[in-house]
Amino acid sequence: MRMSRYFLPILKETPSEAQIVSHRLMLRAGMIRQSSAGIYSWLPMGFKVLRRLENIVHEEQIRAGHHPMLMPTLQSADLWRESGRYEDYGDEMLRITDRHGRDMLYGPTNEELITDIFRNNVQSYKDLPLTLYHIQWKFRDERRPRFGVMRGREFFMKDGYNFDIDKDAALHAYNRHLVSYLRTYERMGLKAIPMRADSGPIGGDDTHEFLVLADTGESEVFYDSAILDLEMGDREVDYDSVEQCAAIKEEWTTPYARTDETHDATLFDAIPEERRKISRGIEVGQIFYFGTKYSDAMNAKVVNEDGKLVPVHMGSHGIGVSRLIGAIIEASHDDKGIIWPEAVTPFRVGIVNLKQGDAEADAACENLYQNLTALGLDPIYDDRKERAGAKFATMDLIGVPWRITVGPRGLKNGVVELTSRKTGESVEMTPADAIARCAEIYAGV
Ligand code: ATP
Ligand code: MG
Repeated sequence: MRMSRYFLPILKETPSEAQIVSHRLMLRAGMIRQSSAGIYSWLPMGFKVLRRLENIVHEEQIRAGHHPMLMPTLQSADLWRESGRYEDYGDEMLRITDRHGRDMLYGPTNEELITDIFRNNVQSYKDLPLTLYHIQWKFRDERRPRFGVMRGREFFMKDGYNFDIDKDAALHAYNRHLVSYLRTYERMGLKAIPMRADSGPIGGDDTHEFLVLADTGESEVFYDSAILDLEMGDREVDYDSVEQCAAIKEEWTTPYARTDETHDATLFDAIPEERRKISRGIEVGQIFYFGTKYSDAMNAKVVNEDGKLVPVHMGSHGIGVSRLIGAIIEASHDDKGIIWPEAVTPFRVGIVNLKQGDAEADAACENLYQNLTALGLDPIYDDRKERAGAKFATMDLIGVPWRITVGPRGLKNGVVELTSRKTGESVEMTPADAIARCAEIYAGV
């Protein structure tokens, strides 16, 4: 992308309405604009990051054997009356009446709709196990929308639903989700800790929330710091293996980690003191096993191997895709701006031309731009007639992980400068080497 042609409305001033750094930076970097309380437009760069996250979520869900689909945002109230949640959900539900006087609602989640699809289309144990998911906008009329996309009213969420013949099979689906979520967050450059949680209005027995540690998080969390050493890495996962998924769950849920809702002081005090940590966290996902709650209420049954009709065991599993962008920025920024992890950055390489209009500098930048584009390295080229300082400030603010600086002086010696946004380190090298180095950095991403 050429900066001169892009829509990147950067704010010089710090917006006064933003209380936390991710919200401030998303506004300043021209990623989002508020349209009304808790509702945002995603400008091109914000939208690009949202798509990147969405792709990672899809890839990891498909790898786990879950099927992507798409359900509508508007739902009929009748299904929610069947489950009893039309009344229970309260003021967070946005209720709408259509021209025929039918009660509709903007979906805050999709258990009822997916259960309806299931019961109308699946009759036999032979079609199980089955996990369906979608990534769709949700609406919850939060009492206090705040912190930008972190607690919006309209937000983008992945929600998946497993259907299994019995509890054991559903618990395997639960573990499979836990493992796929660990991989998802790790790929985004985040450390998200599964913590034992409370089940709330969805209801259920088994549930974990995934929390990213951050001072601005809304939840208080208590954990054994040993959990910070765990890593999924690039180990092979066989999602069909009940033992392997259970072992990974065991590994990640053995060290103590709980939110204030389920915190147990006695267990916590048993951890060696130097490993006992209390801090704050941002909830970026949650998994639930809730058994036959919805299948009983909505009569979703299948014939089992013995020819008997039995209710299916279900769970639901969510990832806050739009909230994740805030969480990533909370976890990765400095006083100059965002520092994108390579896997989610909107642009992979920034090109700064120190002397726009200088024939040699322009040609060198053009050449870099063409080559990086051809390699899929998605460069953003600051080709504006601006001072060098302003160009650096823009690249730092928008958080591009690698910057190539091109100027007449360096070009005389045949070199450009490659700079890491994270460490600030710069190395001089030929343009060809800079391209090769960037290709190498992004090869595994
Ligand atoms: P919270 O406790 O933060 O209100 P929740 O537990 O009600 O969230 P879930 O039903 O578990 O939310 O939804 C799955 C995920 O969607 C959450 O883990 C969170 O990351 C995200 N999410 C929920 N509410 C919002 C919101 N208002 N704005 C942005 N993301 C949200
Ligand atoms: Mg939750």
